[in-house]
Amino acid sequence: MENSNHVKMLILGSGPAGFSAALYAARAELEPVVLTGSQLGGQAALTYTIENYPGFPEGVGGAQLGDLFQKQAEHFGTRVEFDLANKVDFSARPFKVQTDAGEYMADTVVVATGASPIHLNVSGEDSLLGRGVSYCATCDGAFFKDKKVVVVGGGDSALEEGLFLTRYATSVTVIHRREEFRAGAILQHRAREHAKINFVFNTVVTEILGSEKVEAVRLKNSKTGDENVIETDGLFIFVGHTPNTEIFQGHLKMDAHGYIVVDEKMQTSIPGVFAAGEAADPHFRQVVTSAGMGAAAAIQATRFLEAESA
Ligand code: NAP
Repeated sequence: MENSNHVKMLILGSGPAGFSAALYAARAELEPVVLTGSQLGGQAALTYTIENYPGFPEGVGGAQLGDLFQKQAEHFGTRVEFDLANKVDFSARPFKVQTDAGEYMADTVVVATGASPIHLNVSGEDSLLGRGVSYCATCDGAFFKDKKVVVVGGGDSALEEGLFLTRYATSVTVIHRREEFRAGAILQHRAREHAKINFVFNTVVTEILGSEKVEAVRLKNSKTGDENVIETDGLFIFVGHTPNTEIFQGHLKMDAHGYIVVDEKMQTSIPGVFAAGEAADPHFRQVVTSAGMGAAAAIQATRFLEAESA
């Protein structure tokens, strides 16, 4: 880490919210520092194609979009550090943020730490992780060429990633705990029309079976209680996300699910600390809304600093 560890704005996270905040802060000459966290580009960078970010009529690769966000932020003077925040002290200013590589002092902080996939918490899930159990089709799909896979979930992620897996797998079985999908109409239509995708409704996975790798899953019908076992080579789990906000517990006001509470200007319960993107958004969780929140946070942080020096 460079010696200049007292910064005007420290941005935690490098997804759409983090880099959008950085772009606005850099253009306001705040020389922001982005700590990438463990996943450069955030969850969006793990998405194969993003079709609903404006400006890309044919869609854009998630990693490519993340790279463009980063380059644009750096172009205006953002410093990017491959580092992870692990402890904060927001009790006085400058705020203190401890990281794997050292410590920062910051006049303002933008928390854009995103969210992580929720686990099913069933037997076999942890022991077979990376051996057939996955939370990312873009990352692991290619390992399932000419194999059978099961997808769990009924939201946009489940159907989008399920459709992606048809590139490789011979069959994709989507297991959903209800009869109606939460996913949007376009994805539902595409999935229902796809010859390789089949559906099992009103059903949950109760156990993942296999010794060295996933071999089968035990299913339970949530209406009848009937159980059966189906063979599969892989299990992709898309049952939602939880915000990455543990290190802010007790420091920032949060809702019951751990989302950071912000006002309409992205201000948290601590003046000078702002939050944006999925860490503070249980409602929309889109690349475009996260980017908008990041921009708003940086604009407000800039005004906050200006008001102080006026
Ligand atoms: P989500 O919308 O929260 O959906 C989670 C799904 O998993 C729901 O169908 C839910 O069932 C099911 N589920 C939850 N817990 C479960 C459990 N323990 N066992 C079995 N099933 C369980 O999550 P998401 O699909 O990851 O999407 C997150 C956000 O990102 C959403 O706002 C979504 O619109 C957005 N997103 C958008 C796109 C896109 O626009 N192309 C792509 C991906 C994600 P119930 O329906 O019964 O609750």
